[in-house]
Amino acid sequence: MNRTYDAIILGTGQAGPPLARRLSDAGMSVAVVERHLFGGTCVNTGCIPTKAMVASAYAAHVARRAADFGVAIDGRVAVSMKGVKARKDAVSERSRVGVEKMLRGLKNCIVYKDHARFRSAHEVSVGDAVLSADRLFINVGGRASVPSMPGLDRVRWMTNSSVMDLEVAPPHLLIVGGSYVGLEFAQMFRRFGSEVTIIEMAPRLLQREDEDVSAAIHTILTSEGIDVRLNARCISVSGDDGSVTVRAECAAGSPTVEGSHLLLAVGRRPNTDDLGLDAAGVLRDERGYIVVDDQLQTNIAGIWALGDCNGKGAFTHTAYNDFEIVASNLLDGSSRGVSDRIPAYALFIDPPLGRAGLTESEARGRGHTVLVGKRPMSRVGRAVEKGETNGLMKIIVDANSKEILGAAVLGTGGDEVIHCVLDMMYAKAPYPVLQRAMHIHPTVSELIPTLLGELSPSEEVHKPGTS
Ligand SMILES: Cc1cc2nc3c(=O)[nH]c(=O)nc-3n(C[C@H](O)[C@H](O)[C@H](O)COP(=O)(O)OP(=O)(O)OC[C@H]3O[C@@H](n4cnc5c(N)ncnc54)[C@H](O)[C@@H]3O)c2cc1C
Repeated sequence: MNRTYDAIILGTGQAGPPLARRLSDAGMSVAVVERHLFGGTCVNTGCIPTKAMVASAYAAHVARRAADFGVAIDGRVAVSMKGVKARKDAVSERSRVGVEKMLRGLKNCIVYKDHARFRSAHEVSVGDAVLSADRLFINVGGRASVPSMPGLDRVRWMTNSSVMDLEVAPPHLLIVGGSYVGLEFAQMFRRFGSEVTIIEMAPRLLQREDEDVSAAIHTILTSEGIDVRLNARCISVSGDDGSVTVRAECAAGSPTVEGSHLLLAVGRRPNTDDLGLDAAGVLRDERGYIVVDDQLQTNIAGIWALGDCNGKGAFTHTAYNDFEIVASNLLDGSSRGVSDRIPAYALFIDPPLGRAGLTESEARGRGHTVLVGKRPMSRVGRAVEKGETNGLMKIIVDANSKEILGAAVLGTGGDEVIHCVLDMMYAKAPYPVLQRAMHIHPTVSELIPTLLGELSPSEEVHKPGTS
């Protein structure tokens, strides 16, 4: 069967579905191809299910601390992993069903449920069908990287997808990888009742963050009883059905760690290896990411790549922003580009880390004369009232231009508070504008203007990747 459309969208991650809607609304005929679960990583194995589980873990944590707030719980706080999973599955399913329903309800849009592969620059094979179009949009996302670690072929291991299907909390979860994904799972499973050990190759957790932020996160995790092994070299694994042993040369501690389950959280790779990109002539970089320009066009006219597969972002909001860029440029006569956006993301441990723009170390590395405002959360009234005083917040400013360069809010509400800084950065307003804003009391955000009144020169030189 051969069918011709105005546009073909490969994958239903965070960019494909809204783009299908815009193109369909603009009167185009659209084919959407999805090989597995509608909504992709975020909906099924990423943001949404993890944040649902983080919410369960937070509930358990607060229940255990109930007495601190003068609340008596009569009996032991117990976590039912079956209940946690059922809630998580229901939250994910709602989104997944919503995406599929939306796509199937679009005018002039046909949904194919199969693997898509390019046959040429304008043709895609999907099962027995060959679809062709002048415009093709690749939104195939990525999957967990599996490192080539000696012994991995002989033990059971999990990724972000399979770990969320557990119906019993592991007695002892070993996590290889101390970055964003690994840390969220570490804290939630600790709160579900598991022993947790994080094994990280770098000299500190979250190498990309400033040292003070990374150290504060380390303290938050270890204070909950999570064991962190840093500088792990030559990692190998062994084990049998009921146990797994990770062997690593670490700077301190025993060279072996024994646990019951192993989670690999060592990064992601793009789903571009079985997509027929060579047949289309589409270029990839050495790590498999599709090479795109600032408008997200590939080297082949009429083919765009959006979301994680283009290597320009690794978040739902970057994938969605990719959609907005492509749709505005194609349909609204705009000239938007990826370079217009300011890096922003959050780490959803408790308390969360909200981040915008440059770290202090990056700002110094780029030659800015840096001023920093910094305050522990123990000096933030709202945090004290809530009994959640872990963390710190810091804001980074260019002394000459008075521009806000970046911020980190590691503290209660940090994932929301960061947006007041981010939006000022988009407005390119000098920091005194924010300093003079009247914020609501009592909130964490009310301290941001105060922080800007306490700026002082950045003292230490932090280089990314050093401890
Ligand atoms: C554990 C975890 C937690 C995360 N938490 C957050 C978070 O809190 N906030 C955040 O912003 N980001 C988070 N992320 C990242 C976020 O999930 C991704 O950045 C986002 O989903 C990327 O979306 P995408 O549009 O690139 O594609 P994806 O969501 O990966 O979707 C791609 C789709 O394409 C389909 N596909 C692939 N190949 C083909 C093919 N050949 N033919 C047809 N279909 C195909 C796939 O089946 C999939 O449905 C998290 C990721 C993980 C792993």
